Amino acid sequence: MLNKSEEGNVVQLHQAVSELPPVQFIDLKAQQARIREDVDARIQAVLDHGAYINGPEIGELEKTLAERTGAADVVLCGNGTEALEIAMMGEGIGPGDAVFIPAFTYNATASAVMMVGATPVFVDVEEQTFNIDPEDLEAKVKAVRDAGELKAKMVVPVDLFGLPADYPAVASIAEAYGLSVLSDGAQSFGGQQDGKWVGNIAPMTATSFFPAKALGCYGDGGAIFSDSVERANIWRSIRWHGTDDTRKESVRIGTNGRMDSMQAAVVLAKLQIFDSELARRHEIAAIYNDMLAEKVQLPKAPQNTQSGWGLYSILVNDRDRVQTALKDAGIPTAIYYSQPLHQMTAFREFAPKDGLLVSESLSRRILSLPMHPYLTDGQVRHVCETLIGAI
Ligand SMILES: *Cc1c(COP(=O)(O)O)cnc(C)c1O
Repeated sequence: MLNKSEEGNVVQLHQAVSELPPVQFIDLKAQQARIREDVDARIQAVLDHGAYINGPEIGELEKTLAERTGAADVVLCGNGTEALEIAMMGEGIGPGDAVFIPAFTYNATASAVMMVGATPVFVDVEEQTFNIDPEDLEAKVKAVRDAGELKAKMVVPVDLFGLPADYPAVASIAEAYGLSVLSDGAQSFGGQQDGKWVGNIAPMTATSFFPAKALGCYGDGGAIFSDSVERANIWRSIRWHGTDDTRKESVRIGTNGRMDSMQAAVVLAKLQIFDSELARRHEIAAIYNDMLAEKVQLPKAPQNTQSGWGLYSILVNDRDRVQTALKDAGIPTAIYYSQPLHQMTAFREFAPKDGLLVSESLSRRILSLPMHPYLTDGQVRHVCETLIGAI
């Protein structure tokens, strides 16, 4: 309980910051105000032409995304999870195959592996980048090979919070052991590595247009980027019940994996402002990095790698108390992820005997701060000052 004079201080504090509009964790309303006219016009166009499925927006968005990223081809699909599944199906991944994934990620990475009938093998992550640890990847691949029960087939590095994983290190392990590499870039559209955009870093990249992602739609949507047109055409077949070019005869197993024209129209509108939004995300991250340096453990990017800043996450001890203090000051935060995948009920049977220590430790300390392009400098500073006061 606060005593009377403390209550007075709290009231004063609230008055002092009340000139700032309340901080949102993600602000889709401010974004919509900026693009509303364009979105309305593009949705109107879909209503007018009536091709709700496979309308001209689909081809236009696939082409635009390929041009922007440098990928050879892009295939839109129903959501990010399905993007992962279709890419795995295209590589023939199935029962008896081991797919190596980080344990510290969103559950979709693991459920996609299981939906195609393969076995997830959990790999630990690096304390600094939160991404898959190449050393542990190699150890886990060797262990699978030596056990001789599963075939080591694929690795799915996740670009957590927007930061591309260590693809050069992953690629050399993949080459040595004959694995294919599918990037889970659901959080990293706009990220870069060695001068290449996400979508053109790995041979295959899945992304998501879930509304809260840095590039989202107003519903569900996803895409798969490929360095090969041939492979992309197989994905086009899989997303339409495995049909041939006539879209009538099924020539392989497929599914209904299409994205609809209205959602593509929304992404096309959002792409018009994406570059300026990305630039603003970088500015906000720079303020956080600057003000929070030496106060908390910050997200670290390796050389030649730039985050798309889908989220901004730090490590704090005593997280519950810090989160409550921020909440009491009107600052929303989120925890991604409070549980590593190998400890979840659905995946526990695949947990390694000795656990995955870094993933387990991160899940107790990770905290995501407000991150969206419509935060003002003053708001970001206010978040930092409140956080520093709370630790
Ligand atoms: C959001 C997300 C997905 C799944 O995307 P959906 O469009 O929600 O299916 C997959 N992997 C990661 C890392 C994600 O953050």
